[in-house]
Amino acid sequence: MPTTLSEKAKKVKSSSTLAITAKAKALRAQGEDVVSFGAGEPDFPTPENIRAAAHKAIDAGMTRYTPASGTVELKEAICKKFKEFNGLDYQTNQIVVSNGGKHSLTNVFEAILNPGDEVIIPAPFWLSYPEIVRLAGGEPVILTCGKEIGYKMTAEALKGKITPKTKALVLNTPNNPTGAIYTKDELKAIGDLAVAYDFYIVSDEMYENLFYAEGKHVSIGSLSPEIYEKTITVSGVSKSYAMTGWRIGYTGSSKEIASLMGSIQSHQTSNPCSISQAAAVEALNGGQETVAEMNAAFNERRQYIHGRVNSLPMISAVEPQGAFYLFVDCSEVLGKKYKGKEIKDAADIAAILIEDYKVAVVPCADFGFADHLRLSYAISKEEIAKGLDRMEEFLKTL
Ligand code: PLP
Repeated sequence: MPTTLSEKAKKVKSSSTLAITAKAKALRAQGEDVVSFGAGEPDFPTPENIRAAAHKAIDAGMTRYTPASGTVELKEAICKKFKEFNGLDYQTNQIVVSNGGKHSLTNVFEAILNPGDEVIIPAPFWLSYPEIVRLAGGEPVILTCGKEIGYKMTAEALKGKITPKTKALVLNTPNNPTGAIYTKDELKAIGDLAVAYDFYIVSDEMYENLFYAEGKHVSIGSLSPEIYEKTITVSGVSKSYAMTGWRIGYTGSSKEIASLMGSIQSHQTSNPCSISQAAAVEALNGGQETVAEMNAAFNERRQYIHGRVNSLPMISAVEPQGAFYLFVDCSEVLGKKYKGKEIKDAADIAAILIEDYKVAVVPCADFGFADHLRLSYAISKEEIAKGLDRMEEFLKTL
């Protein structure tokens, strides 16, 4: 009897962000006072009107299967939001609702990739992209974008990575882990390349509401009809509405891609939770005041954490413009000795911080930058201050 397991599955790395959050939780359960900068989710409760819509859905008996790719009500709410917020025209047959943004991305790559197709992923990147691409049979091609250019790809650098096998580009604005946002001009230049060289843009706009710069989030698909044709827009309610546990993500794409994604989903998971879908309708159609309130709180913390980190010795960060992460350059710390042992990478720093200072941070080798840490500021200002006091104490020992 064969005993070997899937080679494809064995190559998948488990998520290091989930591991660090789990470690922080385990230490807390043992009574330790841990400050966790690991969170990839808002610390606010889901707004009251959204919770109420879910209760109402349960009482109204919305507890059965829905169409596999989502309810008509939610697809209509998504189309309205795409039109009004993103300037994108999609019909309901171009929308697929999935079990969170991660699942949407999985469906996208399963629908568009053939074995050996290349997907360009600018680094730093959200750690799941390469794994999702590989699982769908594609080859991630990493385009490293350094600190000196704000960790953003330029159209020129992107051009250098295009080959006849390029099938898609991953674009993530606002960005996890850097908080960088792309301007309209930058996006137009990138979009024009996708049209000229005929590849898809998988535009992950999960953090579109968490935007602190002048102006407003720009969706690349809105910049020309040709770019729209090449773009698959991915978003969801997880981050914007503090709904990470509800698991609702969605895409806008061509009818053909939407239909393929719908078929895949119909066999793999069927519909996303009926109650979560009803709640997501309220999130998108209901008042948006709570989004503004959460943003104001994130913005205050953002300014504080950025200023404070840059005042610490040996570490620095570019000011994030969106999302809720600070991407911290620790390259000056590497090579220093702590308790007689050389610090080789950000993972060593993260290990010291959690063991000796009870501070959880995410080392970013899995995000494409082994000398950087990611600090989430989706925690209270008091916790941020306490965590940074402890980091300062550590840095002063070096
Ligand atoms: N895209 C980015 C850039 C993310 O950071 C995340 C979650 O951390 C997702 C997508 C997935 O979101 P969801 O929780 O809806 O699966």
